[in-house]
Amino acid sequence: MKGDNRLKTTDMLYEGKAKIIYATEDPGLLVMKYKDEATALDGAKKGTIANKGLVNNRVSCLLFKLLEQHGVATHLVKQLDDRSVLVKRMQMIPLEVVVRNVMAGSLAKKLGQEEGQVMAMPVLELYYKNDELHDPMINGYHARALGWATQEQLAVMEQKAGQINQILQPFFDSIGIILVDFKLEFGLAEGEILLGDEISPDSCRLWDKESMAKLDKDRFRRDLGQEAEAYQEVCQRVENALGN
Ligand code: UDP
Repeated sequence: MKGDNRLKTTDMLYEGKAKIIYATEDPGLLVMKYKDEATALDGAKKGTIANKGLVNNRVSCLLFKLLEQHGVATHLVKQLDDRSVLVKRMQMIPLEVVVRNVMAGSLAKKLGQEEGQVMAMPVLELYYKNDELHDPMINGYHARALGWATQEQLAVMEQKAGQINQILQPFFDSIGIILVDFKLEFGLAEGEILLGDEISPDSCRLWDKESMAKLDKDRFRRDLGQEAEAYQEVCQRVENALGN
């Protein structure tokens, strides 16, 4: 039964760095279970952030619900418990779509720019999801030429990424957070492109508007400490604004 809490998980399909995916009795539905383990620098740095799984699941579920309310189709069916969410099974498109509002991270390094520079317009980037190759940056021609996505699919993902930014940027602003950049993943279910994976402090750069403190995975990547507190702070603000 769709969306039923009693739906049983069957096989573990995949274990990634941050999540485990289980099949369910319904072939169209999967369970995603979030872990507390954190990795960075292509897996070279490993650790645990207390309650990271719980925070990422909660934040992501609330943000996906917000996006659904604004007409963005996602894989979300419903949150099952602290660390698990029921989602639609999709055929994943092997790309990471990054949207940037403020200069930071790999782009600042690549272009020799100061972090924190507000850009004249949002920047969209594509990366090929491949751990062995360290997720290389690509463009739409590569994606089309290698059969990772069609021109139409790329256009839909670009449109959706822009729409998501226009929803999330003002939302985060309303809770005192600058949405610096974020990463999206999309998949196909019954021919439709849905937003998948997660939107959380693991996949976004989130800076406190007043103190400019980093409230995201950069605390772990850059050994800034207080990772768990930063994740909790984001969760609390998102929950206060969107939770019931
Ligand atoms: N990002 C992600 N997964 C990745 C790579 C990047 O979620 O495999 C997110 C990252 O958290 C940031 C944005 O995408 O919010 C842009 O990341 P960037 O390219 O600057 O890479 P980084 O400096 O994190 O290596």
